[in-house]
Amino acid sequence: MTTGFVLTQEKELSLDEIKELQAEVRRLAKEKNAVILAHYYQRPEVQDVADFIGDSLDLSRRAAQTDADIIVFCGVRFMCETAKILNPSKKVLHPNPESGCPMADMVTAEQVRMLRSKHPDATFVAYINTTADVKAEVDICVTSANAPKIISKIPARKIVFLPDQALGGWIAKQVPDKEFILWKGFCPPHFEFTAREVMKLKEKYPDAKVAVHPECHPKVIELADFVGSTSQIVKYATTVEAKRVIVITEVGLKYTLQKKNPEKEYIFPESMNYCGTVYCCTMKGITLPKVYETLKNEINEVLLPEDIMERARKPIERMLELS
Ligand code: SF4
Repeated sequence: MTTGFVLTQEKELSLDEIKELQAEVRRLAKEKNAVILAHYYQRPEVQDVADFIGDSLDLSRRAAQTDADIIVFCGVRFMCETAKILNPSKKVLHPNPESGCPMADMVTAEQVRMLRSKHPDATFVAYINTTADVKAEVDICVTSANAPKIISKIPARKIVFLPDQALGGWIAKQVPDKEFILWKGFCPPHFEFTAREVMKLKEKYPDAKVAVHPECHPKVIELADFVGSTSQIVKYATTVEAKRVIVITEVGLKYTLQKKNPEKEYIFPESMNYCGTVYCCTMKGITLPKVYETLKNEINEVLLPEDIMERARKPIERMLELS
């Protein structure tokens, strides 16, 4: 195992130090009856201390069902908020409160209210990657794993989808009987991938299949053999017949893919994004020392106003029922 990522001011840990800290985190988790949830985009050394690794939908379900007293959520802020909303009696801890999702921050509750006054006949659908304030204003949430299925079941013809224009455009193609109004948000890391670099990879590896996350640009999605959420990409890439898979999503997923099926080769683009490589800076803002400090001292608790939690819970629960 290698840490690979050095994005913060924390000193880089040796493998022995990592192992020692991981053992201490696990000891604390047992002592405090805590569950550690980690998104696929987390650093490998953080994924290795988690009880569950998954995408937003998997982790929301885990958060809703857990019997633990404490949830340590290794992901970005909206994920921690979702865990708190679904299980408000639990203490939800976020190892780095600075780690938000830039895409979630591209739409505010006030903007949703304004849009609703313009489109009173529409059903408002929010990607799970939104703040609790925004969720409190919408009718239903979706994730990239369940969006087409859920939206096709909505009776209204007009759908306002926010905040991700790429995911919204991809869903619109699969649910052609609906009229979509798309908010112009985007995921900075996923939008960095270009069709040109994917075509180059296809030329270099003509035998490879291409798996793409739907937060990517539509021109990149067009080149895919498979489009799906991170969990769906894990299933596809580790079971498809091809020996090589070109994977167009955040590079943190490579660790899970290699662990699940080391027989295959997973090729990730080497393009540079706004923070210097292909990874999501805020996801990588969760470090093992931060997980340790947070759990040990029970700091960085996620707290939300009661009324926001109550209103935001409804669209999430609707999603969980329909998915
Ligand atoms: S990968 Fe994109 S959508 Fe996910 S947390 Fe990072 S910026 Fe947000």
